[in-house]
Amino acid sequence: MNTDKVKPFIVMDILERALRLEKEGSPIIHLEIGEPDFRTPQSIIDEAVESLKKGQTHYTDSRGIIELRNAIASYYSKNYGVNVSEEQVLVTMGSSPGLLLVLSAIIDSQSDEVIIGNPCYPCYPNFINFAGGIPRYVETSEEEGFQLNARIIKKVLNKRTRAVLINSPSNPSGTLIGREDMKEIAGLGVPVISDEIYHGLVYDDKPHSILEFTDNAFVLNGFSKLFAMTGWRLGYIIAPKEFVRKIHVLLQNFFISPNSFVQRAAVTALNEEHPEVEEMKKRYDARRRFLLEKMPELGIKIPVEPKGAFYLFINMSHINKDSYNLAIDILEKEGVAMTPGIDFGSRGEGFLRLSYANSIENISEAVRRLKNYIEAKETLQKPS
Ligand code: PMP
Repeated sequence: MNTDKVKPFIVMDILERALRLEKEGSPIIHLEIGEPDFRTPQSIIDEAVESLKKGQTHYTDSRGIIELRNAIASYYSKNYGVNVSEEQVLVTMGSSPGLLLVLSAIIDSQSDEVIIGNPCYPCYPNFINFAGGIPRYVETSEEEGFQLNARIIKKVLNKRTRAVLINSPSNPSGTLIGREDMKEIAGLGVPVISDEIYHGLVYDDKPHSILEFTDNAFVLNGFSKLFAMTGWRLGYIIAPKEFVRKIHVLLQNFFISPNSFVQRAAVTALNEEHPEVEEMKKRYDARRRFLLEKMPELGIKIPVEPKGAFYLFINMSHINKDSYNLAIDILEKEGVAMTPGIDFGSRGEGFLRLSYANSIENISEAVRRLKNYIEAKETLQKPS
């Protein structure tokens, strides 16, 4: 098996150390965790409870219940003006198993390549390796928001390429792929796997689904981020019709079916309006704006505005090029936990990912501590 090719998350080292410091009495501010800090909207919780009371606690259709597949197809049609049939939808226990299933279905031989950006979400190369393929990295730049575009993808395209994996808004940078760039990526003629998990959490802009530009695409999405439902474990795949059966067979074998009552709650999530979701978005955006305003005061420039998800990817290489040691040092000296950029690939070295899934009060205090840290370092670095 390819388990030895799966690397651990470095952020877990930071989290464990942060928890230890907290236990010893240090007031730690957690900006390392990529998880909403809000409650799931009440009507979604109520529906799950109702469903449990009704005894909906058994296996379902392995593709997911028809009501949910219809709701997902309608959601995409309504939000992006695309034509999606429920037959293309497969419900999974989070988008993570969805990605594993899609990669397993498209990777046939050990020489098959899947193109990913460097930096990227750490699971991507691990999953590709595990599915028996080769992660083919494309170096992206800070000036282009660490996003892929057709020009740089073309340089590595070859006959072994099975797919390009894109993520807009992105983890770790929070940046989006613009309409024209996405259209050009779709036009390359290679299947695109589009991780759309942060759609919905977009501020001052509109995210585009890959399905607006091509049918030769696999969409991954879920309920974790937009509806603050990480612990419920529910996501979905929208696949080209000719691939559905292959993925479905894998899904049946590995997972039997997604969680029954959670699917009922997810129908409510998609079909009803939730004032809490609008409120969450407003609050994330206020925190984002606050941080963007404060960064220049810390001497940090962010060339491309992050307009989605809840992350800022900040260049700290002028302070310390080793992001792991830097994250540990800031945690120990100032009690602010952030994710080292190296977790996202070699191009992330010198950067830290900061998650604003925390209260504005905590974020504001973290900025003050970070300023302290940077000023102390700069004083030390100045020639006397
Ligand atoms: N894709 C990206 C880019 C993510 O950041 C995450 C969660 N951190 C996931 C996928 C997985 O989300 P889930 O399995 O909860 O749907």
